[in-house]
Formats: sequence, structure tokens, C-alpha cells
Amino acid sequence: MAETCLTVSETLAEIAARRPVLKPVLEAFRPLLETRAALRAEVEEAVAAAVTLPAFSAERAAQGVPLMAGLSLRGLAAPLRTAAERVLPLLCALEAPARYRDALEALFVKGEGTASEQAVEALIAGNEPDFRRLAEEADIQPEVLAFALDFIAAPVLRALALQAQPAEGEAPWNGAAVWTQGYCPVCGSLPVIATLDKRVFDEKNAFLAGGGGKKRLHCGLCATSWTFRRSTCPSCGRQGNEVMEILRESEGANGERLDWCVHCKTYCPTVDLREREAVPDMDAMALGMLHLDMVASRRGLQPLRPSFWNMF
Ligand SMILES: [Zn+2]
Ligand SMILES: [Zn+2]
Repeated sequence: MAETCLTVSETLAEIAARRPVLKPVLEAFRPLLETRAALRAEVEEAVAAAVTLPAFSAERAAQGVPLMAGLSLRGLAAPLRTAAERVLPLLCALEAPARYRDALEALFVKGEGTASEQAVEALIAGNEPDFRRLAEEADIQPEVLAFALDFIAAPVLRALALQAQPAEGEAPWNGAAVWTQGYCPVCGSLPVIATLDKRVFDEKNAFLAGGGGKKRLHCGLCATSWTFRRSTCPSCGRQGNEVMEILRESEGANGERLDWCVHCKTYCPTVDLREREAVPDMDAMALGMLHLDMVASRRGLQPLRPSFWNMF
């Protein structure tokens, strides 16, 4: 299924044209998003030379174990340094990270690298105590370190995650009942955004045209996407017709909405691609839906995965 996907800047331009009020925020984060997108290809070779992802196992997936779980990331210090050298000057244009500039440089650029690899390992493992300890040792506020890793570790993990992607067709975790979790099958992070598939047209057989609407969750860290049941909450796992509610603007929503759970009150921004022409860049799109984040916050809803633009 060949689809035209918009780049970061094309997606941001499209959003800014429709919502001029968001333009200053979009512009503030544009260099970071563009650099992150470009860095993946730049670090790919160094990542492949250092770490190999284990082969996908349907058995492990059925138990809810992500591919990167327990994987040693020794050797990733070099590509992490490459990413940090490009990202830190941009990151430190923002107030909160700027206060930790020296400490961030010491950890990612000037250090021998073990601590930066351990920080990424703790992030992947969801090991909060380890992560906080490492942040403390590096003299960086844990939230700032998490924010920095969103841009320094992400391109490296995206390059690593590519090893698990088939050259064409559906990824192995999207087979029937293979991966049923709300977190990423590759790195274990919670999704930043979800999409509903466009309608599918089979050129050879018009009768096979499908209605689309299959839900996919998208990982903001390693950029993997996976299919997920629409009637299930990705956060608490409850399922049924009464579990998920939709919040959207009455006019001009352009397929943008929040899918939220009536039980645990978490939400995930969702784009119905059937209501849009081109497929947006997912990172830029998630940022471009922050007007809905504000509505959600007023209603007491929690984001499934807090994003960098509302962390400070
Ligand atoms: Zn992931
Ligand atoms: Zn829930």
C-alpha cells in the first residue's frame, strides 16, 4: 500500500495554515523535530554495527514482552553522541534544558558513554528508580533528562527498530492476536498518537476495496506502529462498547480527535486518516493537536504519554 507521507515541515505548514494560533509553538519545536527525523538515517550504520535486535518471536510477543526488553545497549554511546552533538544546541535554546547544558554535554558528549547507554536502558525498561538515580548522578532533573532523550535517544532507537521492519507488508506483530498490548511491541513505550487507516482500494479487484478504519498506535520513541482494537483502552486494557469515548471539535476537525477511556480517564490523540488527503508525519501531527491537549486537561483527562510540549 503506497501512501504519500508528508514530511515534518510539510505537516507543520499544513497545521499552521489551518490553525495560525499554533504557529509560534510549531515554529519553536520545528528545528528539533526536523533534526530528529534527519538523524535516524545518519546514525543507522553506527547503530547496526553496535547492536542487533533479536528476531521477532510470536511466543514472546504473546506474553507482552517488547523486542528490546532486556537488550544490552552497550556500544550505542557513539551514535548517541552524534545525536547529542546535533540536538543539544537546539534543545538548549529552550529555557528548562538550557539550565542543564553542561551536565547534558558531560553525559552525552564528553563522558565515556556508559552512563548515557544506561540511561537509555533504564528508559526502555521503564525502570523509574534506576532512571532517577542516573539523572541524579548526572546532576540533571529527571524530567529534563527524559525530554532530552526524546530527541537524543529517539533517532538511535528508531534506527535500531528499523531492523525489525519487514521490507514490505505488515510487521510481524500485526498478525491476528500476536500483540495485544497498548505499549510498543519493539521498545515498550506508550503511544503518542493513534490513526485510523484510510480506505483500502485494490486496483486489481474493486470488490476487495475495504472500508479502512483499522486503528494503529504510534510510538513516539522508536516510531514503530502497531494495530490495536478500537474498543479497548490502551492504558488500562478494559474493553467493550462503552469503554472508549471520542472528543472532537464540532466543525473543521479534519479527522483530529481524542479517544479517551471512561474508566481510567487517559486519552490518546487520534487522527482519522479517512478524513484527510495525505498521511501526516506522526511526530509533527501529535504536536499539532495540542489544542485538544488543552481541552483534555480542562476536563481532567491525562495523556497516555506526556509529551515534551506540555512537560514544562
Ligand atoms: Zn517504540
Ligand atoms: Zn482505560
